[in-house]
Amino acid sequence: MRRPFMPGQCEICRQWTSAALCTDCMARFGAPRPRCRRCALPLGLAAAACGECLRQPPPFEAAVCAVDYGFPWDRVIADFKFHGRSELAGVLAGPLLDALAVAALPRVAAVLPVPLAPPRLAERGYNQAWELARRLAAALGLPAHGDLLQRTLDTAHQAGLPRTERQRNLAGAFMVDPRRRNALQGRALALVDDVMTTGATLREAAAQLLRAGAASVQVWVVARTPTPGD
Ligand SMILES: [Zn+2]
Ligand SMILES: [Zn+2]
Repeated sequence: MRRPFMPGQCEICRQWTSAALCTDCMARFGAPRPRCRRCALPLGLAAAACGECLRQPPPFEAAVCAVDYGFPWDRVIADFKFHGRSELAGVLAGPLLDALAVAALPRVAAVLPVPLAPPRLAERGYNQAWELARRLAAALGLPAHGDLLQRTLDTAHQAGLPRTERQRNLAGAFMVDPRRRNALQGRALALVDDVMTTGATLREAAAQLLRAGAASVQVWVVARTPTPGD
């Protein structure tokens, strides 16, 4: 499901190509692999879910990701996120749309980005998750809501915290705009982010949407850290 693209250089190998990512690079770095349907972790075999999700299922009903977070996607994502290249959302949305087509999950009613805390948004100038969410929604003919879910705290310093601490650190990090709760009552939603590492942020955001009345939440991310560790 590629969108039309003016001839240019492949974002990964810089070859001249008629797509944002050339077919060689997509075959080499973007080939789909078996993943846990629930959390998108790579699995050795095509099984429905990983051991962790069987023991302790996340609040989201399914997770879809396009690629593993690592070479060369880490560079493309860093350019997208930290170097002002918001237009790379269109490039990164392509492989994710392909992964969504393969996953064939139940259709959602709306697409939401994981919000950024206001100071970070001010610093970056755009929310990379929103740039992705609105393009995915447009391609799928769905509404996108950029400000329904809001960030209340700046929980920037998650790295280095043990897993249980990380989850506790995030409690209360999100809220649903109380005036707009009816936009999600009983609805199936998709929550979009660029990268899922431990999944702690996406778990907390999904849980908050469910508490506010959403019927279900799917998680759509470009890249998943294959071995997030603890
Ligand atoms: Zn290439
Ligand atoms: Zn899993």
